[in-house]
Amino acid sequence: MVSKKTSISRRDFLNGVPLAIGGAVAGAMLGEPAVAAGAAGQALQDAPGYDPAALHGLRGSHPGSFEAAHQLRDGDFWSQSLKIDETEEAYDLIVVGGGISGLAAAHFYRAARPDARILILDNHDDFGGHAKRNEFDLGGRLGLLNGGTMLIDSPRPYSAVADGLLKTLGVDPVALAKACAHRDFYPSLGLRRGFFLDKETFGADKLIVVSDGVPWRQLLASSPLSEPVRRDIARIQEAKVDYMPGLSSDEKKSRLAKMSYRDYLIDVVKADPGVIPFYQARTHGEWGVGIEAVPALDVWAFHFPGFDGLGLTPRSAPDMGYTAAGYADGGSYTFHFPDGNASIARLLVRNLIADAVPGSSAEDVVTARVDYSKLDRATAPLRIRLGTIVVRARNLGDAVSSRGVEVAYARGGEVYSVRAERCVLACYNMMIPYLCPELPQRQKQALSYLVKTPLVYTNVALRNWTAFMALGVYAIHAPGGYHSSVFLNPTVDIGDYRSPRAPNEPILVQMIRTPVAPGLAERDQNRAGQHDILNTSFATFEREIRMQLARILAPGGFDAERDITAITVNRWPHGYAYEYNSLFDPEWPDGEAPHQIGRARFGRIAIANSDSGAAAYTDSAIDQAYRAVQELLAA
Ligand SMILES: Cc1cc2nc3c(=O)[nH]c(=O)nc-3n(C[C@H](O)[C@H](O)[C@H](O)COP(=O)(O)OP(=O)(O)OC[C@H]3O[C@@H](n4cnc5c(N)ncnc54)[C@H](O)[C@@H]3O)c2cc1C
Repeated sequence: MVSKKTSISRRDFLNGVPLAIGGAVAGAMLGEPAVAAGAAGQALQDAPGYDPAALHGLRGSHPGSFEAAHQLRDGDFWSQSLKIDETEEAYDLIVVGGGISGLAAAHFYRAARPDARILILDNHDDFGGHAKRNEFDLGGRLGLLNGGTMLIDSPRPYSAVADGLLKTLGVDPVALAKACAHRDFYPSLGLRRGFFLDKETFGADKLIVVSDGVPWRQLLASSPLSEPVRRDIARIQEAKVDYMPGLSSDEKKSRLAKMSYRDYLIDVVKADPGVIPFYQARTHGEWGVGIEAVPALDVWAFHFPGFDGLGLTPRSAPDMGYTAAGYADGGSYTFHFPDGNASIARLLVRNLIADAVPGSSAEDVVTARVDYSKLDRATAPLRIRLGTIVVRARNLGDAVSSRGVEVAYARGGEVYSVRAERCVLACYNMMIPYLCPELPQRQKQALSYLVKTPLVYTNVALRNWTAFMALGVYAIHAPGGYHSSVFLNPTVDIGDYRSPRAPNEPILVQMIRTPVAPGLAERDQNRAGQHDILNTSFATFEREIRMQLARILAPGGFDAERDITAITVNRWPHGYAYEYNSLFDPEWPDGEAPHQIGRARFGRIAIANSDSGAAAYTDSAIDQAYRAVQELLAA
């Protein structure tokens, strides 16, 4: 049992005001730059009790973390005639971005140069980037969930480099999954997956629980769907029909790669168009867009229904998306730490600055308390500076004969510059053209091509989960809902951390929202979604969360007013790295794809981040960090 010093008052979240841990931090919680210099020159990350993971309200891209970047994009940043404080600080390496890629880059560089002085800069008030930890006080017990990066998994086996890093950190995903993950716990209580059909989309609110062995006609019998729609959903789910007779498996796969799943259902399966709303959001969580923008072949790899009679040969085809192709070939192992891959980020920080994260194992890191005041000590060879948004990175001299790198960053309304021998940009790749306007035009265009996928991971603390028990569900897909999925926190026991077992105990629920603009190409949908997320207030999120949970769970006795005790909305306008989509993107020869052109070393500046692998996975973040560091060391 772990007890937390903080307590969450009802008013904290009802008013949309994130929890403050102490006077020193309170200002940052309300939208000011999150880790500015304090009045006495003390950075907030050095304040006693600083614990950004325990904050609620708007997290992810939290207020104060991104505004300077948008000013830079809009050309307004340097026009403020800012004075740059040229510090005396000098490093061997500066890493921009303290996500898993940036932290891994520091690790790899130090492995090659053990005496190196390294500075890591990140704009958020916590390290880890997408690998963000959310902590909750569940009636005196620690509750954890991932605010972003959910689990160790990848469409492909981890590379020797990425696996080697996990080993160095003491992470054995196979052994941990066996010992700590209890994936059968909810099913063992008789809980099942379900669908929530909402009145606005389907005509009436209705929860359908997918009970084992019950035919779809029967499952849908009391639903508000019309008879032809029920019939066709049952056919799509269960029938083994070859809808593309006369074609070979390869020919079918080629055609499926060029048509959306929506078009496949309508034009090939000849389903009633009324089935589309039922399937429309099924792709949201993995692709960030609806079924009209995802190739049918890609969803086949994810065992979506409707392909069973086609006789497609197993394994990937050449023109599949990165994720789908990888999973069709088998994928990697999976393991979910209670805070997702934030545990990997914390293990990396322990590896870099041992006394900042006490403990010695992958198990004990889960409940370890990070001492943030140890991250940026003047005398330390490795420093992590939070709340610092880099606004410029340039070679001293031209790129070919560069003598070093100057990096400028904004923090607490001031701009500072620091120097280093070399620099790794492990930040969002589409921002790099604004940081390095000297880059070749072709490289800037390539970097701008990579429009990241927006997502919202909402975590809600509930007083108990008796309503889920009463309704017989633990994971709900809501095709027309504000969030398209709602599920009980996965059951994991690791180190001193214990997941709830009794339905009358407090629990966390995760809800995932993907803002989409159906009809547009994927990158345009991503841009629209970014705008949507950043323009939605916490009050709106909160209202939608309460309404959605009430509509789904009230028949099981749930009362939003009584049962919700805290809300954390992790908004990621710049979420998953962009992965190419065979419906919208051309096929580039190897070496000519935007992420490959974009990641070229520029003098003493190299480029990492999962973006430069065009793959939204932790192993990509690590592999790209390794490549970037090797490029710098070889140059
Ligand atoms: C909601 C969500 C769920 C995911 N789930 C999974 C999963 O289950 N498994 C998986 O393998 N992957 C998952 N991913 C993919 C995830 O992106 C990668 O696994 C990995 O965490 C990316 O690490 P990174 O360091 O490359 O990028 P990031 O985590 O994005 O880190 C980059 C950091 O650089 C910072 N930065 C950007 N610009 C600047 C600047 N100018 N100055 C200073 N700092 C800057 C960013 O704010 C960020 O903190 C998920 C992603 C999201 C958004």
